[in-house]
Amino acid sequence: PESKLPTLGTTIFTQMSALAQQHQAINLSQGFPDFDGPGYLKERLNWHVSQGANQYAPMTGIAPLRQAIAEKTAQLYGWQPDAESEVTITAGATEALFAAISALVRPGDEVICFDPSYDSYAPAVQLSGGELKRITLQPPAFKVDWQRFAKLLSARTRLVILNTPHNPLATAWHAEDMQQLWAAIAEHEIYVLSDEVYEHICFAKGGHASVLAHPQLRQRAIAVSSFGKTFHMTGWKVGYCVASAALSAEVRKVHQYLTFSVNTPAQLALADMLRANPTHWQQLPAFYLAKRDRFVQALANSRLKILPCAGTYFLLADYSAISDLDDVAFCRWLTEHAGVAAIPLSVFCAEPFPHKLIRLCFAKQDATLDAAAERLCQL
Ligand code: PMP
Ligand code: GLN
Repeated sequence: PESKLPTLGTTIFTQMSALAQQHQAINLSQGFPDFDGPGYLKERLNWHVSQGANQYAPMTGIAPLRQAIAEKTAQLYGWQPDAESEVTITAGATEALFAAISALVRPGDEVICFDPSYDSYAPAVQLSGGELKRITLQPPAFKVDWQRFAKLLSARTRLVILNTPHNPLATAWHAEDMQQLWAAIAEHEIYVLSDEVYEHICFAKGGHASVLAHPQLRQRAIAVSSFGKTFHMTGWKVGYCVASAALSAEVRKVHQYLTFSVNTPAQLALADMLRANPTHWQQLPAFYLAKRDRFVQALANSRLKILPCAGTYFLLADYSAISDLDDVAFCRWLTEHAGVAAIPLSVFCAEPFPHKLIRLCFAKQDATLDAAAERLCQL
């Protein structure tokens, strides 16, 4: 058949994890922890399964989990969404992003995103018949040029997709960035999709700047998060989105036919976890900061130049002192010959991105990080 996505291949995460496996390399490419999530969460899942909680969950998610998310949002961002109409549980953040884009983007609409951008946004926009307008952020700071942003707006602009803390750049927006965004779009009917899956893995001064903390922006925004990151369980695929009742209603129209609902026992276990340990997320910055700093320290004698990391569990490394290869070729070489798999950055960009940068995941046991650093220091 004629493809609706003719230029799209297999995701870089699948490709690099497969290559890592093939060469038995240490896999710092695809972002997932090589350690397990909380035992309590697993116990609760088993318990709910044993109690027969094995039928469909409500379409929007189980009430106690939506309530816990509403309360967490109030505690963190100073505003409590209505659990009934403004919080929706999805099959990972991936589903929330796809549902939001499908619900909002009409054929011919323009969507602005910031490159390098996470790879699931563009195909969703394309399938909806939208046109992506991509702003490439430049090193070293990868800051948004708000004047350039304003020039990109048109009568057809429908949606802005942002991601903070940012995968793959490991940068984080500040409250001022949210204000700049609001100033630029306030007069237009433009919506915001804010991918905040790393909201709890933020090391920036002032903490994570959520779109939900901005009183005006949040009325136009869909904020997306994921329990995969928060509880070290990427395979559970439970995420959620928070948005005004009107926007949530549109997202739910898609969600009800995309997945209808999300697996029941995992939702119940997560609700128990949030009730028993409502501030688990407070431990995450220190936990990942220690890993980041250990890894950075271990790489101090390497020829990699490590860029600042304000959030996520990824580090960017400049390898220009080691190789002239482009980043895709270098990541292949690194996996095959140095035994460490990483992610190239150019694959997240529409325009050429000629910088010699790779992404290394540090959501790994200390022993894994030490072993990877030892190999990288030999280059
Ligand atoms: N957005 C970003 C920026 C991500 O890094 C990821 C996954 N690592 C997702 C969305 C998808 O999250 P999930 O696994 O919950 O679908
Ligand atoms: N989001 C993860 C990463 O950035 C990968 C998720 C996936 O494999 N689709 O590495």
